[in-house]
Amino acid sequence: MGWQGLSMQVPPAWNLVAYGGDFKAGSLRLDNGEFQTHGVLGVDIRWIPIKGKVTDADIEKRLTQYLDSITKSAKRQKIAAVTQVKEVQDAKHPERLGLRAFTWKADRKAVGRIWHCGECGRVIIAQVLGGPRDDFNNLAADVLQTLDCHPVDSEWRLWSLYDLQTELPADYALTGKPQLMNIYVSLPFARGTSLDTVTVEQWGVANVQLRGAYLDQWFREKNKAVEGILRYTASEGEMHGHPVLALSGRRWGLSYWMSQALQQIGRLQKPATYFEARIWECPDSNKIFLVQSFSRRPQPEVVDEIVERTLCHG
Ligand SMILES: [Zn+2]
Ligand SMILES: [Zn+2]
Repeated sequence: MGWQGLSMQVPPAWNLVAYGGDFKAGSLRLDNGEFQTHGVLGVDIRWIPIKGKVTDADIEKRLTQYLDSITKSAKRQKIAAVTQVKEVQDAKHPERLGLRAFTWKADRKAVGRIWHCGECGRVIIAQVLGGPRDDFNNLAADVLQTLDCHPVDSEWRLWSLYDLQTELPADYALTGKPQLMNIYVSLPFARGTSLDTVTVEQWGVANVQLRGAYLDQWFREKNKAVEGILRYTASEGEMHGHPVLALSGRRWGLSYWMSQALQQIGRLQKPATYFEARIWECPDSNKIFLVQSFSRRPQPEVVDEIVERTLCHG
């Protein structure tokens, strides 16, 4: 899993159920979707920015507030909640300040951790949640141990959900509405406040999508609406052992200028007219991948590197 600078290894059966916010403040929840015999098992991560100097006591206070809210809502359901907090040492992450391990048990059970990260400046609350009588302490410890709240490589950020795994330059942030489904994933990004955008898309069941068509035919058909304003040349490369169709050019036409560029020129922003796209089919995973970029300056190397960092099979 990779999201908003966080990364974590979770069991393959855990899928996204909710997300919100941005890099600064947000939340993410993944679970195994099992409602029958046992309660769902999954992980819930929240991150919030915190200003100024943070002391151990501040973290302790936040955790106490959180656990109090659990106790209160349990009380309303006439359940006695049990909570526990422990100070822990983590030699592997000296940047984690005020680190505490906690557990709570009410209508559900949670095993979690909270810390303030001196590196990414966020307070992270991560907890593995399950049924109140389920024993998942070891699993929780294993999962929480893999959580990193900021990337090792500060230039690139991992984005990974629904077995799409890609990386974007760190100055690109998720924007608009991503689409997250088993058969289709679309992650739209923008670079800061500029008009530069990158979209990474993944289709499952490539054979059904393509129906025997070539990738360039398929792309033109899919892009019919904007095809008229794109001028590009196509070439073929290779990546991940597959042929990759590379489109390189610019976007023209009045519609872009009227809708976007002219407004932006008024704000002294450079329009993003340079177009790059990479399309490939991965027969091993039966998926199609499309990486598209519009930018103020040509950036074929950046797009190629995103493709290289977008893993398609084992
Ligand atoms: Zn961090
Ligand atoms: Zn592949």
